[in-house]
Amino acid sequence: MKQSKLFVNTLREAPSDAEAVSHQLLLRGGFIRQLAAGVYSYLPLGWRVLRNIERIIREELDRAGAQELLMPALQPAELWKDSGRYDAYGPELIRLRDRHDREFALGPTHEEVITALVKQEIGSYRKMPVTLYQIQTKFRDERRPRFGLLRGREFLMKDAYSFDTSWEGLDHSYRNMYEAYERIFQRCGLNFRAVEADAGAIGGEGETHEFMALAEVGEDTVATCSNCGYAANLEMAKSGEQAQGKNQPTTEPIQKIHTPNVRTIEQLSQFLEAAPQEIMKTLIYMADDQPVAVVIRGDHEVNEIKVKHYLGAETLGLADPEAIQKAVGVSAGFAGPIGMKIPVLVDFAVLQMAAGVCGANETDAHVIHVVPGRDFSIEQTGDFRNAEEGDRCPNCQEGELTFYKGIEVGHVFKLGTKYSDPLGARYLDSNGREQTMIMGCYGIGVSRLLSAIVEQSHDDRGIIWPQAIAPYQVHLIVISTKDEAQVTLANELYETLQRQGMEVLFDDRDERAGIKFNDSDLLGIPYRIVVGKEASNGKVEFVERKNNVKQTLSKEELVAQSV
Ligand code: ATP
Ligand code: MG
Ligand code: MG
Ligand code: MG
Repeated sequence: MKQSKLFVNTLREAPSDAEAVSHQLLLRGGFIRQLAAGVYSYLPLGWRVLRNIERIIREELDRAGAQELLMPALQPAELWKDSGRYDAYGPELIRLRDRHDREFALGPTHEEVITALVKQEIGSYRKMPVTLYQIQTKFRDERRPRFGLLRGREFLMKDAYSFDTSWEGLDHSYRNMYEAYERIFQRCGLNFRAVEADAGAIGGEGETHEFMALAEVGEDTVATCSNCGYAANLEMAKSGEQAQGKNQPTTEPIQKIHTPNVRTIEQLSQFLEAAPQEIMKTLIYMADDQPVAVVIRGDHEVNEIKVKHYLGAETLGLADPEAIQKAVGVSAGFAGPIGMKIPVLVDFAVLQMAAGVCGANETDAHVIHVVPGRDFSIEQTGDFRNAEEGDRCPNCQEGELTFYKGIEVGHVFKLGTKYSDPLGARYLDSNGREQTMIMGCYGIGVSRLLSAIVEQSHDDRGIIWPQAIAPYQVHLIVISTKDEAQVTLANELYETLQRQGMEVLFDDRDERAGIKFNDSDLLGIPYRIVVGKEASNGKVEFVERKNNVKQTLSKEELVAQSV
């Protein structure tokens, strides 16, 4: 590619509202342009990097046996109502109506669509396990789109979904994806760490991990123990949620409330409906902006509850009571938006602890206003959420916790039957019996990953692309377009290197050398070849962007080196 023809020029300054370094450098380098808050165009250079990242993702997922497909972004609201998420998802879901006044949503994620699709296509255990993935534009009306591609409202995601016939099968699919993720992030040159996604759920069911790119600009805080190596995301520390005042623990003292005759789903539902707001608020925990109701069973028979939550009256989804019982040893029911199993387990663990203290497990009683860390030490609950740096590790009870900032670039999650159950994705097992499919879901923020890499890989002069994803491998610069020897040699190298399969950006512009070098540093292509004064001797300068190491090489040496 000749730089004189490149669509967009570099900018000397980034707009003042670009706070994150990656945002500034990507704008200045002409990799992206903003259209609206959190909505960006990927320009030719940026698109090349994205395609390289996508290629790595595809190679690794295909290698792991996953199959690529592409699903619609436009999704009928009906599907979301069937799964129970239409209201629970809240204002992040972009909703619209067609000309016939039918409701639609723009997909922020595709559990509903894929489950409906697989339900249609798979009827027998013989077709499972299967893992399907896509790389697609997602829409989320984020409260605070910021930091360029790091938190967009329209962004590129790779999302994958596995369908198994058993929990052991799911374990296997999950591991398989987890390992593929490790390879993907390694190949992208990312400094990352896999952490437990929910800080309060050590060893619980519904395993979930996040892949965190280590970076100061990250909105997540990860607690890690030097002794046992355990690392978990302190979800509660997320600035956005605190700013909104949700997820804040109550300041009220812990209290046992009398809940006479609440033994059935209907009774519970009635009780909650009649309960004053205060009780509602603490019985119904907020997690990740989603209402999560928690009820300890005691000897009650509760395995499904319907609650009215703050956002409007809506039926929430049903969790897997068996899994909860297995994980926390309490038979219990809970209602929460589908996919929100983990925070519930945390709360169960907490309430279970509470039970010993103030009798929540008594018949006709529940505790309210429970604050982990205040009412129970985090060691007791194994809950990291209110942990502070220097605290004893809740996992091993020995090491000390240290904190670091991370960007969530990937997330793997064992869903179980959260979607397959309400959406009726069933199959016939080898005995001809109907069973519910067991699912996992796996996401990578493709455009976020690009920014995360820039956050980690830059200096004060510009971006330093890891070779595997760089927009071009070689930046060829001719110092003087007026010097015939230089122009001839540069053109010759441009042809030869490309013939050898190199991707070359050729700065053939009639510009001062200083401008060319500044731009070259900013664009961050791994290798630079400078054709200057020594061209008449057939020599060029070869420079590595990451360490600025320079060598003078003959044309022949250079060509030999690049083979
Ligand atoms: P976050 O906690 O940052 O809001 P999330 O947990 O809501 O992310 P997931 O639902 O797990 O996101 O989506 C899968 C992946 O998509 C995330 O791990 C992240 O890399 C990416 N992602 C999520 N939201 C955005 C966004 N607004 N802009 C860019 N990438 C995003
Ligand atoms: Mg989010
Ligand atoms: Mg998250
Ligand atoms: Mg996530």
